[in-house]
Amino acid sequence: MKPRQALAVAMAALSACAAAGAAVFIALYPPPGTAASVLPPASTHIRDGAFSGPACNGAQCRLCPYECFLPEGARGRCRVRANYGGKVRTLAYALPAAVHLDPIEKKPVYHMYPGSLVYSVSAPGCNLTCRACQNWEISQIYPEQAARSAQAPVALKLRVLPDGRAAGELETADLASLPPADAVRYALATRSRSVAYTYSEPVVFYEYMLDTARLARAAGLKNVMVTSGYINPAPLDALLPYMDVVKVDLKGFDEDFYRRYTGARLEPVKAALLRLKEKKAMFEVVNLVVPGLNDSPASLGSLSSWVKDSLGPDTPLFFTRFTPNYLLSGLPPTPEATLTAARDGAMKKGLHYVYVGNIPGHPGESTYCPRCGRVLVRRYGYAILEDRLTPAGGRCPWDGTRVPGVWR
Ligand code: SF4
Repeated sequence: MKPRQALAVAMAALSACAAAGAAVFIALYPPPGTAASVLPPASTHIRDGAFSGPACNGAQCRLCPYECFLPEGARGRCRVRANYGGKVRTLAYALPAAVHLDPIEKKPVYHMYPGSLVYSVSAPGCNLTCRACQNWEISQIYPEQAARSAQAPVALKLRVLPDGRAAGELETADLASLPPADAVRYALATRSRSVAYTYSEPVVFYEYMLDTARLARAAGLKNVMVTSGYINPAPLDALLPYMDVVKVDLKGFDEDFYRRYTGARLEPVKAALLRLKEKKAMFEVVNLVVPGLNDSPASLGSLSSWVKDSLGPDTPLFFTRFTPNYLLSGLPPTPEATLTAARDGAMKKGLHYVYVGNIPGHPGESTYCPRCGRVLVRRYGYAILEDRLTPAGGRCPWDGTRVPGVWR
């Protein structure tokens, strides 16, 4: 072989090797938005997507206000829904991202079963891109990037200590999949009174949430949805018959803040809250107060006024402390005085149940009777120190004022 021919053969072999290497690399790490990228690790996690339909040269998801148009192979903004074979599919059905047994106060939900355990499930993905996300490792990922399995609680055994007190022993298992029936079985075996759809954004694992909620309800458990409220009216309506409480994260009160720091818009969240009110659903509202970004007295005051005037004075409202995190790790934690002032201002406007979150020992952790001012549920962090609500129906034992909630 002449030198020129040998060089050509070597070059051809080299480029064949490079092409094969690139093919293997793309198969392992497909670029987002391509047909290859919509193949999740296991097909057991693919299901037809609810609230979607065909569109010209593609398909459209109508689950949330983004209403993503998806050509074949493309993904939505949430990363976990895709046009796969001409239909919108969820790629994260029963794919556990984080599964824990939590006190319900951690959600935070204060007006349902104080001190109870809630079996908390999640799948990867979110339709928002909050710069202060506390769970960005699971919310801002593709399903292929999720861990192959999650450590999940499967049983809680109680044993009596020599001094007569009871101690709990939590049994866990490494699960690659957590189908709805198993989630409900484990919730019952861990003495949970409810199942929460939480940590990431349950709107984007809608089908999994709804199937689990139906089974949980049939098994006598309550359901808790912890959400940013970025959902269209029709899917929200379809969920509500199964949800006992919806916790909505109202992240701020101006469009500019929403656009810059969450990637979403404020108006659809307000519309979802108004719909919850209109449908007589039980819900609580939480606002994470971020120093320098959404903590001005004017902004916090407008938020409180809107909650009181539009959602009603009995709406539980939380102002919670920000801790440096994710893309906002350079900011300081929220000063306690800011949260206290926000709570005082909201109560002066006429809201009855305003709480301060993430500051254990703050008086704003407890529930007070709006008429006589006495403590009805005294909290410290996630612990219930005292519960004076009447056993029969969640009333103040001194003057009979009824506190809205699910108490017994
Ligand atoms: S749920 Fe996901 S795919 Fe559907 S509209 Fe929202 S961001 Fe787009």
